[in-house]
Amino acid sequence: MTQIAPTPGNTTVRMDVPENIARLTPYSPGKPIEEVQRELGLTRVVKLASNENPLGPSPQAIKAIADSATRVHLYPDAASRALRQALAGRLHVSPESLVIGNGSDDIIHLLGVTFLRPGDEVVQGDPSFVRYEAAALLNNALCHRVPLTPDWVHDLEAMAARCNARTRLVFIANPNNPTGTIVGRDALLRLLDRMPEGALLVLDEAYYEYAAGAPEYPDGVDLVREGRNVVVLRTFSKAYGLAGLRVGYGVMHPDIAQWLHRTREPFNVNLIAQVAARAALEDVAHVRRTIEVNEEGKQAFYSAFRALGLEYTPTFANFVWVDLRRECRPVYEALLQRGVITRTGDIFGAPTYLRVTIGTPEENALFLSALRHVLQTGA
Ligand SMILES: *Cc1c(COP(=O)(O)O)cnc(C)c1O
Repeated sequence: MTQIAPTPGNTTVRMDVPENIARLTPYSPGKPIEEVQRELGLTRVVKLASNENPLGPSPQAIKAIADSATRVHLYPDAASRALRQALAGRLHVSPESLVIGNGSDDIIHLLGVTFLRPGDEVVQGDPSFVRYEAAALLNNALCHRVPLTPDWVHDLEAMAARCNARTRLVFIANPNNPTGTIVGRDALLRLLDRMPEGALLVLDEAYYEYAAGAPEYPDGVDLVREGRNVVVLRTFSKAYGLAGLRVGYGVMHPDIAQWLHRTREPFNVNLIAQVAARAALEDVAHVRRTIEVNEEGKQAFYSAFRALGLEYTPTFANFVWVDLRRECRPVYEALLQRGVITRTGDIFGAPTYLRVTIGTPEENALFLSALRHVLQTGA
């Protein structure tokens, strides 16, 4: 017998879902290039919306991906042994301190599932990365969103003040997304002192590679090595250029890691991702080039913004948070018409801001000339 799928709209299926699930909202990603090309009939579209590496993946990673294609009938290593070994050597931690995830998003999810009981509390900055609150809501925990300072920096004093005996997870993206700002080591230590016992500080260092050169930027892994209640998140999605493969990791005390190994899916990191991440890690030159291109683009953005009279927040990452001083939505739409995809600040509660990923020199020039045109013609 043939099964006929119901046409949407013709039928209604009612599922009674728990209240916490009903409150979740689907993630809204940056618009894909192909969609904009199709919808607007454009051939050249640049995506400066998701903080991906504009140089693409490392050539060594591409080769490793191709070479591993013949082995995808096999399950991946459930423990990601070789990748953990390579990372352990690089970070000077034990492999037992590492949990690899299907992106660092996976680790955020696992931290919530593993450590949050109903009624527990989570503290995060506002605006910051959206997946922290999702992890709280999914597990019936309360999420306190603590406003950033007027300079768009995490207000660690205020965050410490929101901690109480029920606080289990404190999330800090360092550098922060969407603002590109960082907090320093002393401020983090003061926050740690004021957190209750049994609470974890989750330092999300998705943009670590971009910030690592700055003397005031603290390396979260030092705190892990010092035995603090800290989990550091890093990813291969940003500077390493492997966003499409989904691989990230957490660095933490082995006593914490062993809990996550119980809650994660056994094969949460696919075979190609494991192989590509190892190759990408080896290609130090590719990461160096990535950072150089980013520095150059950053300066181009800054001087163009200054010329346009726009205030921006100095960034430690690969994107810039800029105040358009007018509603961002129409500017975003007008940029889209000109083939440039960006991210609007309204989704982060800042309706006059735009978050723009730093691209290649050519992509940056395209964006800046589109922006000049849009702002000067008042679109
Ligand atoms: C991009 C990003 C992530 C997610 O990275 P994946 O490893 O691709 O899941 C996590 N945190 C922040 C702050 C990010 O900007």
